Amino acid sequence: MTAQRRVLVTGASRGIGRGVATRLAQDGYAVAGCYATDSDEAAKTRTDVLGFDVPAHFGVCDVTDLDAVERFVAAAEEALGPFDALVSNAGITRDAPAVLLAPDDWQLVMQTNLTGTFNVCRALAFRFMKRRAGSIVTMSSVAGIHGNAGQTAYAASKAGIIGLTKSLAKEVAAFGVRVNAVAPGFIETDMTAVLSGKQRDEALSRIPVGRWGHPDEVADLVAYLLSDRASYITGQVLGVDGGIRL
Ligand code: NDP
Repeated sequence: MTAQRRVLVTGASRGIGRGVATRLAQDGYAVAGCYATDSDEAAKTRTDVLGFDVPAHFGVCDVTDLDAVERFVAAAEEALGPFDALVSNAGITRDAPAVLLAPDDWQLVMQTNLTGTFNVCRALAFRFMKRRAGSIVTMSSVAGIHGNAGQTAYAASKAGIIGLTKSLAKEVAAFGVRVNAVAPGFIETDMTAVLSGKQRDEALSRIPVGRWGHPDEVADLVAYLLSDRASYITGQVLGVDGGIRL
């Protein structure tokens, strides 16, 4: 019997994070999940994870705060044991044309998406390097590859995540640690539920497979990248987007 793996999923309360947390629980991982605020949604994810009879450690941790991240990781490792895997998924949008975007919104998006990814990667990569094993998946976006009008801050943060992922992959590969980015297209979550009917129709018209994606379809790719089946894959940006980049 193989030892149980342990994963930290940020932004685990809803959407893609919930899909990833429950999929990895189904695969037998012990799951730690964090989010910005306690909510019924977060409680549901925790219940879903526990439904797979695996250990779990859930709680609030603001990924923009490096000290809070370090405290959460230490408490989670105390409860579950040392992590083998990280999914840095927490993210937000604040959409507006660049000339109208409030500077505070720019800062918040960069702090949450890019600095937040740095904070959790920093905390766990060092642990993984010391143990000479570990796998990290970061969450980019098609917007980070192609840009998107009305999303300068979001796209910049997601492009930054790609640079972070590739650089970190080079730094830690010799220590047996892999780092890859996933770039989802349009996935049905709270984040995209705010789009207008017109925006949804326009998005749909650009998706060759003719439909939006589901969080479980992102979770399948994440599960694969974390697994030993992906042992020779690092520094990559893998799309899960219904062909929107074609
Ligand atoms: P949701 O808005 O549904 O969920 C966002 C998650 O991030 C929530 O768990 C939220 O916690 C958490 N979060 C937000 N800010 C913080 C913070 N400061 N600290 C800790 N947790 C935080 O988003 P999605 O599931 O749609 O997106 C997940 C990731 O996938 C994001 O990085 C997003 O950019 C990316 N993505 C999504 C796409 C889509 O189409 N949905 C497309 C491409 C990329 P809480 O519940 O407490 O607010």
